Amino acid sequence: MSIGEFDLIAKYFERPVRQAVLGIGDDCALLQPTPGMQLAISTDALVEGRHFLSTVAPERLGHKALAVNLSDLAACGARPLAFTLALAMPRVDERFLTGLAQGLFALAGQHGVELVGGDTTAGPLNLTITAFGEVPPQAALLRSGARAGDDVYVSGTLGDARLALEVFRGGCALPADDFEAVRRAMECPQPRVALGLALRGVATSAIDLSDGLVGDLSHVLRRSRVGATLRLAQLPRSAVLAAQPEALQRLCLLQGGDDYELLFTAPPSQRDAVQAAAVRGRVAATLVGCIDAEPGLRVLDAHGRRLGELGASFDHFKS
Ligand code: ADP
Ligand code: MG
Repeated sequence: MSIGEFDLIAKYFERPVRQAVLGIGDDCALLQPTPGMQLAISTDALVEGRHFLSTVAPERLGHKALAVNLSDLAACGARPLAFTLALAMPRVDERFLTGLAQGLFALAGQHGVELVGGDTTAGPLNLTITAFGEVPPQAALLRSGARAGDDVYVSGTLGDARLALEVFRGGCALPADDFEAVRRAMECPQPRVALGLALRGVATSAIDLSDGLVGDLSHVLRRSRVGATLRLAQLPRSAVLAAQPEALQRLCLLQGGDDYELLFTAPPSQRDAVQAAAVRGRVAATLVGCIDAEPGLRVLDAHGRRLGELGASFDHFKS
């Protein structure tokens, strides 16, 4: 006989909590945020076929479901505290659950966050996590704070996740080692939590790159009522992506989703502070452009020529 709902929760998801007042097992979890801090809350759903392929290893799926939520907290400069997991799955598969829990708790342990509750139902595979973090009043990094004259930065490298997707779709081929590297970028993104924390008081705005650089930067520009100029040649990319044809690089860098790097702005007076934050965040921060008073997004090629059509960002209801 297969394991029941409550035994399943106890076996795979219930862990003793250290920071939360009350974890799994009652109708609500109880959290005690540090007095005076604001709660930062974010929810992201991962749906099979939409956000992940059926070929993904359960460990990586568990990792990614939490990573994309911690990435949102990072983009706000919030310190992660706890999370809940709403899980729908077609049937109880203990091998799947074991792997899922492994990936989930490994990343949770790295960031000191606890699983404090959730819901478990039968249905098409779907993992929805809500993450809770805290941030001092006025310190959250918002999309609305970019100012004309600010520098624009991105963390890490961009485009590998999209390159992996292109390989899965049969659009291009890579040697096995290269494919494994970009596949890892797609399936195991590293949320830039330490960088987000270090950017408090330094960055004027931030967003995490989930739907592609052009689309996500456009959110910042709209919220901040400014424009921007990006330099394509300065966009940081892996050696694997840099070896691809120009058009494919451009697609992956500008429209590729699933990077989960931070895009942020800061005044030129903060250049040293940004690099110090990057050291604390253990990730590179690359200057890729500037914020302009003139609305709109301009992308310049290596010769300083403006690119034409930038293409739309990912939209679940249009793509
Ligand atoms: P309720 O019916 O009161 O909503 P449930 O019976 O669904 O509660 O769940 C029992 C307990 O297990 C609750 O504390 C709930 O938060 C927790 N829980 C259920 N599913 C999960 C899950 N997938 N991950 C973590 N905790 C879960
Ligand atoms: Mg209840």
